[in-house]
Amino acid sequence: MTNVPELFGSMVFGDREMKARLPAEVYRSLKRTMKQGKHCDPSVANAVADAMKDWALQHGATHYTHWFQPLTGVTAEKHDSFITPALDGGVIMEFSGKELIKGEPDASSFPSGGLRATFEARGYTAWDPTSYAFILDKTLYIPTAFCSYNDEALDKKTPLLRSMEAINRQALRILKLFGHTEVTHVSCSVGPEQEYFLVDHEKYMKRPDLLFTGRTLFGAKPPKGQELDDHYFGVIKPRVQAFMNDLNEELWKHGVLAKTEHNEVAPAQHELAPIFSTTNIATDHNQLTMEVMQKVAAKHGLDCLLHEKPFAGVNGSGKHNNWSIATDTGMNLLSPGENPYENAQFLLFLVATIKAVDVYQDLLRTSVASAGNDHRLGANEAPPAVISIFLGDELTAIMDAIENDAPYIAAEKTVMKLGVHALPRFFRDNTDRNRTSPFAFTGNKFEFRMVGSSQSIADANIILNSAVAEVLQEFADKLENAEDFEASLHDLVRETYAAHKRIVFNGNGYDDAWIAEAEKRGLSNLRTTPDCYPCTIEKKNVDMLVNQRVYTPVEIKSRFEIGMENYVKSVLIEANTMVRMAETQILPAVSAYCADLASAAVTKQQLSAGVSAAYETGKVAELSALEDSISAKCAALQDAIVANGSIADAAEQAYDIRDSILPAMAELRAVADAAEVKTAKSYWPFPTYADLLFGVR
Ligand code: ADP
Ligand code: MG
Repeated sequence: MTNVPELFGSMVFGDREMKARLPAEVYRSLKRTMKQGKHCDPSVANAVADAMKDWALQHGATHYTHWFQPLTGVTAEKHDSFITPALDGGVIMEFSGKELIKGEPDASSFPSGGLRATFEARGYTAWDPTSYAFILDKTLYIPTAFCSYNDEALDKKTPLLRSMEAINRQALRILKLFGHTEVTHVSCSVGPEQEYFLVDHEKYMKRPDLLFTGRTLFGAKPPKGQELDDHYFGVIKPRVQAFMNDLNEELWKHGVLAKTEHNEVAPAQHELAPIFSTTNIATDHNQLTMEVMQKVAAKHGLDCLLHEKPFAGVNGSGKHNNWSIATDTGMNLLSPGENPYENAQFLLFLVATIKAVDVYQDLLRTSVASAGNDHRLGANEAPPAVISIFLGDELTAIMDAIENDAPYIAAEKTVMKLGVHALPRFFRDNTDRNRTSPFAFTGNKFEFRMVGSSQSIADANIILNSAVAEVLQEFADKLENAEDFEASLHDLVRETYAAHKRIVFNGNGYDDAWIAEAEKRGLSNLRTTPDCYPCTIEKKNVDMLVNQRVYTPVEIKSRFEIGMENYVKSVLIEANTMVRMAETQILPAVSAYCADLASAAVTKQQLSAGVSAAYETGKVAELSALEDSISAKCAALQDAIVANGSIADAAEQAYDIRDSILPAMAELRAVADAAEVKTAKSYWPFPTYADLLFGVR
């Protein structure tokens, strides 16, 4: 039996280890840094480095790495061993404070969107003392931020930490107005639910599309898909259960609070939910979770697919980013309180979030934009590309009552006044969960459901935190100068809700009627990645991000460029993979089958005049027509790829991907899939959907 409490965090240089191994003074100083996001005193670093190294060596580590999150969206690491030559010709194991604090990965090949000219290609990594170091595969992992030598952020962690500071600054001002002087720090809590698919490794290796792009580019619908809904919460198969058990143990060892696991809607699809933690820890842990999932899968002869849409025709995978704001005194600011005054404070944070999501809906949408996620959003399995907020009927009724100065319950004569009336408690346990909303209030937190399964949750949280901070700043500016706090507060909540309630929608987000209604309300519907990115450089958005000190204008520009570039690159890889698979696998297979059918027909006809070869000849006619179509569509896609390569402007290239390449890919796929279901299985050159989706028992 696994002793979970003993196992938990055993590979983490966490609080227990620090307390035991560091001098009291150093420990206190480090804790201060961690709690309040203060800078770390360099003199502390040496002591920490020493203790960290001793601990790591005792746990079998030989190397250390500065672990960072460049703009590729996946983590990066370069391993250095602890060895230093000793005078006697041997080695000793050393690790200094300097090595802990700063690394130079010479990372000129990471995308920087023009932030670093190659002649000054150096970037450096800086220790993030707020996220614990851990050991993975004999290496000490040190979570770090990644910057250029001009201190421009080349990663996702730096702006994330900045956005956490932004919301802390502004939320503290608001809390002070409500008399909460005991609060010294505010941070957002995040619990990301992670969806994924598991497929058999041997089958995976036979699919160049999975190998190169993470999703299937061909594949006819199997006779059985997800229509019976028999997989969702279904009994977990033994091989999957063995994987999950191992995964949990690995995650627990690394301090990840893996909590819930179940089968998802699609066959072979599963979900893992952790217990929430502070934003940057949750982000690091989610990155780690995705990596560990893949490593553990490999041990079980499986491959873990994190792509947003690995299979056409069955649900894709997302990540539900559960988000709330909490104080260091344990108060959840998005939880309705016990008394009228607390409720007023809750409503203020609530309308701040509503306004932030409305005003910066375009940025929030862009924070989850990627070629992969484009296949998922709006596909009747995931939220639409239009952002809206689900509040639930009861909370909406309360907000409407406040807006209209009307009694909340018609039978009662009293009008809802903030700070005077208690909110009813029922919506806390509101079970009316809307699964189709992109941004749903779920009692004491919001659940942002548009994040793609393979994406870092950093981008979404950077935008959420900064946008809410911006609105809180406005609110604080107003309320700090108010003559009558309560009256101003009431007006502010009322006016903000009235001005931004267009973003509130409690109905079915999958319904086409909603898209038409959203358009009427003036909500943006950014359907694809190239539609999204241009908004990042609009003045309104740049002003906000710069004002909150989350990004500099240059950093924003670089993200715009990288976002467009990544889109172009990933779709081009897919297009090229398709051409290759069609040319070297599908066409030869169909042709071989046709040839065999044709010779069978000839043989049959030679047998005797009475033997029919109608089946064979009919099939040959049908299949050779499809063969010609595949060949023609393949050539058309190849031409489109060449034409795309001659477009100089990156944005234009992205629009061409959307308008020419993706449609050409869809056309090629349609004819190839039609051929698949008419070709003998033994001729088909790679595992089918049925093999992949139902192959893990
Ligand atoms: P639901 O059933 O509404 O999805 P759960 O209790 O299952 O809610 O939680 C889903 C995810 O939300 C979990 O990862 C959980 O840790 C996280 N979560 C719960 N409370 C909060 C909070 N206050 N802030 C952030 N995440 C939270
Ligand atoms: Mg949930």
